[in-house]
Amino acid sequence: MKISRVEELTNKALNSLNINDNIKIEIKPMKQEIASFSFKTKTLRLNKYVVENFDDELLYYIILHELIHFKTNSLYHGINFYKELRNHFSEEQCNEIELKIIQSVLKMHKIKKYKEQNQKLMESNK
Ligand SMILES: [Zn+2]
Repeated sequence: MKISRVEELTNKALNSLNINDNIKIEIKPMKQEIASFSFKTKTLRLNKYVVENFDDELLYYIILHELIHFKTNSLYHGINFYKELRNHFSEEQCNEIELKIIQSVLKMHKIKKYKEQNQKLMESNK
């Protein structure tokens, strides 16, 4: 069975964080968020657009980020969160990757806006 890119990156992050729990993955369109984690169902939720358009580096960073929330058992970005994050990425690397994520999100919103405007145009031309 061929495993997906998301599964591969998630497994890599789970190994790296020494997490042995079974984590479910859900990929679906999301309006605002890039990703989220449900503690209740141990589910990693990823924005469909992000999965389809972000490269491995960004996607891995996002997955690792969500799984650190799980590992530190907190939704906050406190001392424990950053302590764990620093085991994987330096501050410089984080800044660089986060900038790329912001740029990709802006691009995502621009495309969405363009599509919506196009849709309106199409409708007004009917
Ligand atoms: Zn977070």
